[in-house]
Formats: sequence, C-alpha cells, structure tokens
Amino acid sequence: MPSKPLLLIDQDGVLADFDQGVRLAWRAQYHSEAPIGPRQHFYLRDDMAPQYHPQLHDIYTRPGFFATLPPIAGAVEALHTLLAHGLDVHICTAPISNYQNCVAEKFMWVEQHLGHEWVSRIILTKDKTWVRGDILIDDKPQISGSLTPLWTQWLYDAPYNRQYHDRRRVCWQDTASWADLLA
Ligand SMILES: [Mg+2]
Repeated sequence: MPSKPLLLIDQDGVLADFDQGVRLAWRAQYHSEAPIGPRQHFYLRDDMAPQYHPQLHDIYTRPGFFATLPPIAGAVEALHTLLAHGLDVHICTAPISNYQNCVAEKFMWVEQHLGHEWVSRIILTKDKTWVRGDILIDDKPQISGSLTPLWTQWLYDAPYNRQYHDRRRVCWQDTASWADLLA
C-alpha cells in the first residue's frame, strides 16, 4: 500500500443513512413506526415481515428517497478530513436495479452534502470487485463479484454486521477506528 492509500467509500449505510430514511418516510406516510425487527440482516427487507415488502419497495423507489437520506453521523466531516490529509478518496456505490431515481439522486446527495467537487469522485458500479483501490470502507459483510478484489475491506460498523469479526471495523464517530489513515 502506498503511504497515502487510495480509499473507496461506500455511500448507503456509510455516508447516507438508508435505514433512517426508510423509518422517516414510513412515519410520514403511515403515521406509525416502520415494522422493522432487530437489525440482523444486511438487507432491510430481511428484517421485515413479507407483507410489508411492497410498502418498503414503494418507499425506496419513489422520487426523492435517495436524495433526502440523512447523513450518517460524522461522515461528512470525516470525508473532508481524509481529503484534506491528501488521501485520494472516492465514493464507490452500487445503485439499486430500479435505477430511475436512485442514480441521479445519489449524485445529488453527494453534491448537497459534500460539495460539487465531490461529484467527480463518484464511482458507480454494480460490481465493486472491478474497482481498484487499497481500502474499501463498506457496511456490506459479503461483497461478491466477478474478480478477486485488489482492495481490503474495512467493515463500516452497523448492527447487522456485528457478527463478523474477520475485518477491521470503522465508525466515523470513533475517530480512533480510522486515525491510521491520516498518519
Ligand atoms: Mg452500503
């Protein structure tokens, strides 16, 4: 690894709070808490009873959902800090297959929360194993694709990935967890 690692950073669950976005949208539409069980699975639907899946799908495919996701605490500040320390930081994100709103709105989110200059740092791909980098910070515990990754994954901490102890764990608010990157 070079002294300044090339960093790939996932968007949903690492920068943008997908779960909280669903909870807020559900509350606004149905005037009740989203029927989400304990977060044990990466995909939110897997922690919801099947009868709620159509409503969940409706929420995350509607216009405005991805654009208005709240930022994960500390994420925006962390990315600015990493860039200010000279790291080559890119946002590496996979759009949902119902791409019609998601793709443009992921760009909008980055522009709104990080600034226009960050738009050119977005790498949009369905297969992150094709992307070169030293470290990928991602909350998904099992990332698969058609190539052997060149990056090492650091797992972004989330309730649904805490059973995995095989990788380094990062949380933006725990600055000690990523302070090495600034050294
Ligand atoms: Mg993610």
